[in-house]
Amino acid sequence: MEAVTRVNSTARAAGIVTVVVAALLGSAYVLGRSLVPDQTRQHATGVTTDANGPHYADQPPEQPSTGHPSASQSAAGPAEAGQDGTGRDAGGDQLFGAHTDTGTARLALTFDDGPDPRYTPQVLATLREYDVKATFCVVGENAQDHPDLVQAIVADGHTLCNHSWHHDVSLGNRSADQIRADLIRTNEAIRAAVPDVPIVWYRQPGGAWTYPVVSVSRQLGMTPLHWSVDPSDWQVPGANKIATTVLTQAQPGAVVLLHDAGGDRQGTVDALRRILPELTSRFELEALPTDPT
Ligand SMILES: [Zn+2]
Repeated sequence: MEAVTRVNSTARAAGIVTVVVAALLGSAYVLGRSLVPDQTRQHATGVTTDANGPHYADQPPEQPSTGHPSASQSAAGPAEAGQDGTGRDAGGDQLFGAHTDTGTARLALTFDDGPDPRYTPQVLATLREYDVKATFCVVGENAQDHPDLVQAIVADGHTLCNHSWHHDVSLGNRSADQIRADLIRTNEAIRAAVPDVPIVWYRQPGGAWTYPVVSVSRQLGMTPLHWSVDPSDWQVPGANKIATTVLTQAQPGAVVLLHDAGGDRQGTVDALRRILPELTSRFELEALPTDPT
């Protein structure tokens, strides 16, 4: 009887040890995963990019990334749900120092996601009509596909901004090496069209800034560029709404976010024709300088 009890007791002790060891191993596994977040996030990024599809736009994640691995991962999910305008209200702490204004009294128009043969030539013609210079935030693969349009943009005196290779809204959650490769590849595609053209601005797709993406873009000689006026033209609200929003919110130093690609942008083109007469009478418009101080 006593022997049996001792055996049971020993077995119980062994069982407890087993449970404790398993718990410790489990903790170590979880801890290990949290210490190497890049690989995990890389997978999430791949899915995000695919789901994003061709009709991307600058809708920030529901909760702009905080840089914390788990927060970044959860933010990558709803990024494609279609939220915009939240970037403007996200607050400075979510922008990691990205510029939201021109730093002068001049107003800057920016055109994202192109070039696109359907809309970029129309935008260029309209800007030319009003003798307005602007800044084009081009996507690397689109620059590669349409080098003639990159040349036309530069020939008209506009300036360029790197907008990543494939408009990856989650790019900021990748490793620094992956971010660097993406941005360099984009600059190389632009310079394949226009050798030695200055590219001193970087705009993160979706405005989903993270510390790494800001840091890498600065290392590559580019200044992070956000915006201050966002008519959500990528949601195709119609030319009237786009024009009204821009004219209502425009103020000295504003950086206006518009899109010349990534979907049906005829509304943006039409809005531009309505915006420019008033905008040019109220403000001095500029292409963002290629020698920012
Ligand atoms: Zn964009």
